Amino acid sequence: MQIKRLRITGFKSFVDPADLRIEPGLTGVVGPNGCGKSNLLEALRWTMGEASAKSLRGAGMDDVIFAGTATRPPRDFAEVSILAEISGDEREIVRRIERGAGSAYRIDGRDVRAKDVGLLFADAATGAHSPALVSQGRIGAVIAAKPADRRAMLEDAAGIAGLHVRRKDAEGKLRATEANLAKLDEIISDQD
Ligand code: ATP
Repeated sequence: MQIKRLRITGFKSFVDPADLRIEPGLTGVVGPNGCGKSNLLEALRWTMGEASAKSLRGAGMDDVIFAGTATRPPRDFAEVSILAEISGDEREIVRRIERGAGSAYRIDGRDVRAKDVGLLFADAATGAHSPALVSQGRIGAVIAAKPADRRAMLEDAAGIAGLHVRRKDAEGKLRATEANLAKLDEIISDQD
């Protein structure tokens, strides 16, 4: 997967719409302390489906919305769009949050579930919890990780994390079908 553009509106310190084109090769983000470098990485993780406000340094998810400053009023919504090339196709993933009303996701302009966004990124071997996104303090966490957690990181990197989700879904459907078959057997034997 290659991220080509990030468009951020009303997310944390990005009060005005910001359009960041990410060219092939190495991209560096530099700036003084507190200018919003970490907010940029959080905007990426949030759009990929991050569900924990705490891991985005907030108390609730509404805290990602621009909270206002001495000179600017707070915003009512935040929206982040990622334009990425995934398996040769250009895809646009958007997450939007309205104050007090929660989040909504879109892929290529269609409303989707958070799960669909999670699967799209998991299949592309990345996502909100991908080891490819290294935030402050994360290196220490990787070194100290338990074997099972390290295995999960390797599975993320290999792009097979989405298969576990699909397997769980398929097992659920299989159990429901087995229960229906058992019911059907009962009805048939009652009629005999
Ligand atoms: P450092 O180099 O110290 O790690 P940084 O460049 O990574 O800093 P961030 O942590 O991304 O900076 O940004 C912090 C800034 O974002 C602070 O000024 C904080 O007030 C601002 N900020 C965070 N959440 C919001 C919000 N909801 N509304 C407005 N500003 C916010």
